[in-house]
Parts: sequence; structure tokens; C-alpha cells
Amino acid sequence: MSKLVDNFGRQMDYVRLAVTDRCNLRCQYCMPAHGINIVPRQELLTFKEMYRLIRVLTELGVNKVRLTGGEPFVRRDFVGFLEMLSYNDLLDAINITTNGALISHHIDKIEKLEKVKNINLSIDSLQRDKFAKITRRDVFPEVYKTFELLEQSSLNLKLNVVVQSGFNTDEIVDFVKLTRDKNVAVRFIEEMPFNGKGQRDMKENWTFNKILNEVKTVFSVDEIQSEKSSTSRNYKIDNHLGTFGIIPAFTRTFCNDCNRIRITSTGTFKNCLFDDGVFNLRDFIRKGASNNDLKELFLYLVKDKPENGFIAEANRKKGNVSESMSTIGG
Ligand code: SF4
Repeated sequence: MSKLVDNFGRQMDYVRLAVTDRCNLRCQYCMPAHGINIVPRQELLTFKEMYRLIRVLTELGVNKVRLTGGEPFVRRDFVGFLEMLSYNDLLDAINITTNGALISHHIDKIEKLEKVKNINLSIDSLQRDKFAKITRRDVFPEVYKTFELLEQSSLNLKLNVVVQSGFNTDEIVDFVKLTRDKNVAVRFIEEMPFNGKGQRDMKENWTFNKILNEVKTVFSVDEIQSEKSSTSRNYKIDNHLGTFGIIPAFTRTFCNDCNRIRITSTGTFKNCLFDDGVFNLRDFIRKGASNNDLKELFLYLVKDKPENGFIAEANRKKGNVSESMSTIGG
């Protein structure tokens, strides 16, 4: 089996696939209050096309897929796609990132899908009013109910918390306190400029060290071994059931063993989150490309993966990073 290896010897075995650019929330760090120009439905990959792309990638050594959006559960019959994807015998894990507002009545069914193991729930505040200020939607009760249901389920739960200067930095300690009695992994993520406007003015720059020091003002923490290619540096606190971690997503200190490639909901292939797209797979497929054509293409494209996110950003052709994360999938 040929493997997807770039010019730096890194093997790509993890694909992040966005199933839609639509979302039911309007998070300030992701898109403007009025939303984004969503694409016409026919420009989105179909579930069949997505299944085929994942199948071809798994025949090149990819064994893990993360499904993102927009909000994946906004797409009709998303759970049907999970069932379809579960039939791919080369896939070890199907992971999902969701904002949790639409998932609670699907949890029982998802739990039965063996390959669906990890759910990342985006929740940036534990206070209803602040949650509504950040997401511009008053759905905190639904999301918190989802949090409780997932915590009690057999699925591995991570909480994605984007640390936003001027919004939720006063809750960092509260989120860590959750790990005392709950078996949950809290992941603090540095804010990025993928918000439909570009880098916003921030009074303070909440990067990795500042977030860690904030936690250390209250807790004594021990670093724990993270998985290879993990973007998160993880910590535990004595007598806490759960753990917390910090993802230096903007300071990009984890690129040396990056194992990720991305496919957007319109079929754009990305070698790096910070590049502006290297090839449109949807058009290639719809023009009649075979699976072997796709394999040759993936092997060729991955060779050019930039060494790190800073080089990827510097090589952009469409100007500075400003596109909404909802068009990429995170
Ligand atoms: S910034 Fe790019 S190279 Fe670095 S870890 Fe992310 S995707 Fe990989």
C-alpha cells in the first residue's frame, strides 16, 4: 500500500472532512453576525462523493477521519452518513466536532456505531448570557444538556474552548474545575483569524503560556504524555477525574509531526489549515476521475505539504487569513 508521505517524511494518516459550510450558530471568532455566503447545495460534496474520497484515502494509509462543518448535524441525514462511513473496514476511528445544539436526540444511535469514538463539543462559556454573546444564539441550555448526555455516554468527550480576549478568559479556571468531578478532557484553543474578517484587535494575546499560567494561578498541574501528532499539550491535576490541554493553534508549535490533511465541504483539498487550498477534488471527480487518478493525485499533492503553518500562510495566493472557519472545517 502506498502511503501519503510529504517531503519532510511526515505520513498523513488523518483527514479532517467538512460535511457542510452551514451552521446554526454565529460564533464571533468564526464568522460575522450576519453569517457567511453559503454555497449553493449542488456545490457541496455529496455523501457518496465524501465516502469515495475517504475510501481512496484509507487505501493510502489514512485510518482516522474527523467530521466537522460548519455544524455537521445541520446537514440532513448526517447520521446516515456516519452509518455509511462505518462500513469502511480500513477506518479505525470516526471523530466528530459539533456545537452540540442539534445532537442530543442522536446520541443513542451514534453510541451504537462502533467506529464513532470521539466527540469534540465546542462550548466557549458556562454562563448562558456570555454563551449567547459569543455565539449570537441563546442555545446554552441545549448545549449544556448535550454535554451532560455525552459525559454519561460511552463516547470519549472533549470540550473545545476557544480562548477569546475580552469574552471568556475569566472562565478558564471554571472549565478546569469541571475536570474535578467529570471525566472530560477540556481543550483550550488559541483564537485564530479565521473569522470572515481577519485578525481582530485584542487587548491581550491569550497564547499557550498565558493560558497555562492562568490555570497555574489556582492549580498545581503535571504534564502528561500526549499521543504522537497530537496538537494538544495535556495536563492533569491530582484528584481530578478529567484532564485539560492547550492547543497552540495560532502559535503553531506542533507542525513538525503534523499528520493532517483537510477536505472542505466544497471539495477543496488543503495540505495545511493555513494554506488557501491546493486543488478542487469535487470538480476532478465530477469530470470523471477514477479512484486510481485520485490516488496518484493525493500522493502528488501531499508531497508539496509546507513544513509548517507559517510557511503555508506566507505562500497564500488569496491574501491574508480571513476566511470563516465554517468554510474550512477547522
Ligand atoms: S498549521 Fe499546518 S502544518 Fe501545522 S499542524 Fe496545522 S495543518 Fe499541520
